[in-house]
Amino acid sequence: MSDRDRLGIHTMTVKPWSLQECCSAFAAAHVPAITLWRQAVEPVGLDAARKMVDDAGLRVTSLCRGGFFPAKDAAGRQKAIDENKQIVDEAVALGAPAIVLVCGAVPGQSLKESRKQIQDGIAAVLPYAKAAGIKLSIEPLHPIYAADRSAVNTMAQARRMCEQLNGSGENHVGIALDVYHVWSDDALEQEIIACSQKDWLHAFHICDWKVEQSDTLQDRGLMGEGVIDIKEIRGWMDAANYRGDIEVEVFSTHHWARDQHEYLAEILEAYDNCM
Ligand code: ZN
Repeated sequence: MSDRDRLGIHTMTVKPWSLQECCSAFAAAHVPAITLWRQAVEPVGLDAARKMVDDAGLRVTSLCRGGFFPAKDAAGRQKAIDENKQIVDEAVALGAPAIVLVCGAVPGQSLKESRKQIQDGIAAVLPYAKAAGIKLSIEPLHPIYAADRSAVNTMAQARRMCEQLNGSGENHVGIALDVYHVWSDDALEQEIIACSQKDWLHAFHICDWKVEQSDTLQDRGLMGEGVIDIKEIRGWMDAANYRGDIEVEVFSTHHWARDQHEYLAEILEAYDNCM
């Protein structure tokens, strides 16, 4: 399989485009895979979205995103579990084999408590996801998001949750590795090896870490605009026998303000350059 055969692009990367515009442009550019964000699906509905993706000949890598399990009270946590089950149904309808989990955190609540609530939340959704044949992919987030977006901040934390949640030999719960979040983790290579031995590497997201960021969420770099040695991490993923899609996921108000067709051409070039 060549590198281009493994290219996936998140709908959020080209956020100004409708799902139909994404599908048409990706198909024309021979991008084989797409990761669907619920925000892109919502305006057209599940059935129409599925048809658009299928008609464009795109493979759905994942549905983004589930998670946000912690809450101050039991009712809030139950609401999150119910919503995640609904997202499982959406993944089935869309032909997505996995759901990316941004696990959540509650400002002011201890990280320890949030981590417990995350594990309990995933455990509550897991039988439903398993029955539906949908995998749950924990995405460890950079510690700058620990207060409000995710209390899971390292590969090791995510791996320990996989250990707790999966039965022997199972990989229903795994990890979505995003270079933005884990590039500075000094155990990254070892964690990739440890996770791959259990078949827990579900997804590989790429973008770049700009040294000057005007916003901690929406000023990510296109590959090559920052400091992450993506080739090195890709090498570790290859050595660990990861053979799944390589997904370009860039949140950038700067790039969203541009002509998205020109931007897509740059994405393809940047992808080739970092492979
Ligand atoms: Zn990601």
